[in-house]
Amino acid sequence: MKNTENKQIVLIVDDAPTNLKVLGTALKDTYHLKLATNGEEALGLAISKNPPDIILLDIMMPDMDGYEVCKKLKEAPETRDIPVVFITAMNEEKDEELGLQLGAIDYITKPFSIPIVKARVKNHLELKQYRDMLKENSMIDGLTQIANRRRFDETLLVEWNRQKRHSEPLSMLMIDIDFFKNYNDTYGHLQGDECLRQIAQTIKKGLKRSTDLAARWGGGRVCLCTSRHRPYSSHKYRRNYPNSHYGLGTSARGLTC
Ligand SMILES: [Mg+2]
Repeated sequence: MKNTENKQIVLIVDDAPTNLKVLGTALKDTYHLKLATNGEEALGLAISKNPPDIILLDIMMPDMDGYEVCKKLKEAPETRDIPVVFITAMNEEKDEELGLQLGAIDYITKPFSIPIVKARVKNHLELKQYRDMLKENSMIDGLTQIANRRRFDETLLVEWNRQKRHSEPLSMLMIDIDFFKNYNDTYGHLQGDECLRQIAQTIKKGLKRSTDLAARWGGGRVCLCTSRHRPYSSHKYRRNYPNSHYGLGTSARGLTC
């Protein structure tokens, strides 16, 4: 994810302020930096609404060491795809092996060379961008060009956990197209596809927040997943999609908050 300056976000985690300063100075002109001095702080920043694109993680820290932080990051669906690079004084082969087994993408030992750290961070971020692009493409419904069921399922899981943590409501709205079979039988399936495409795009354009998601559930059904909306707001969403611009009735049902 990118911030408003359009820079990728690097989270540096180290309990030694000197190390944070050295790495921060080396990377601050190219990336947006977030800094953490312990594991709890690092997990909080990683799971935030504006998560880092890569995490540079020290291993030896009090309370929660870097291995434990990495394990927790890789277990959570919200953070498991964020690349983790260990930067550590622990230079034995078994330490590196454990770090990579826990899911880290790289392992750099101290004392490190600044140009090499910069080059590795750059390479990992380029790979992540490419992976994100592939993932994004695999989560678009080919017919309607809105999110597909897989993306919906992943988003629902992430939002469900997020709202549970913050005790905030999460709303879901299922929209079905009335008499869609009759429409297909009368006008043919190609016209039916076009109809579905236009309805899906109209629903997508009606979204109010960047975190709201419209996804094709399957057949003639579209799902809306909206966070931080109370039932009243979700009913307003329902009213955003009155009987349709396309001459078809749509029915919104299964509102869950
Ligand atoms: Mg340390």
